[in-house]
Amino acid sequence: MIIVCISCEVKTGDKKEVDIQMDKKEVPESELSNDEYIDALKKMGPILPIKGASITKNNNQLPNAPRNYRCGSHEGFDFYNGFCGVKIENGTPILAIANGEIIRADTNYIDIELEKREALLKEVRNLGFTPDSTLDVLRGRQVWISHGNGIVTRYCHLSRISKGLKGKVTRGDIIGFVGGSGTKSKTPHLHFEIRLGKDFLGKGKTPKEIRDLVKEILRK
Ligand SMILES: [Zn+2]
Repeated sequence: MIIVCISCEVKTGDKKEVDIQMDKKEVPESELSNDEYIDALKKMGPILPIKGASITKNNNQLPNAPRNYRCGSHEGFDFYNGFCGVKIENGTPILAIANGEIIRADTNYIDIELEKREALLKEVRNLGFTPDSTLDVLRGRQVWISHGNGIVTRYCHLSRISKGLKGKVTRGDIIGFVGGSGTKSKTPHLHFEIRLGKDFLGKGKTPKEIRDLVKEILRK
């Protein structure tokens, strides 16, 4: 069994800078083959996390797109206004893409201050990669849902989380609302990841392959 992180702190000296409250849950460890993951995803019958939206037209908002400011790659799909066919603004509802169980909800999240964000990114440039703890901070306020088989979806940069969100959720439930938490610009958008074990959906794939894959797995 692996334990999903239950707390995340960024420390400068001894001062706790970020305090994120999460539900503590265990996710069954699962190492499926790529084909098995795709089958499991299809069986989930997922929808997209914003009502009426389509996948972004902009390849830079897909998984694998370079993120030079933090010496890394994008690990999810961005839903920005103007790129996904529907209006996306602060407060746009975010939907659970399939049935599952809430394993993290940052209800007591406090956004990182700009100077601390800059300090973290300076460290990233010195290291040449983004440590997981920093990446976690950059994702802002988050909700994570476990769908079994090691498949977890992450909904990031939220402005707010639905009241009382915990336990089991059903596809289409409103879990939170679009925001810009964790970002520098605060431009409202949803950053959405599908985690497959230790990897993310789309890792190593071209934009076309990713678009085809999404078409294949989405609920018809
Ligand atoms: Zn993103």
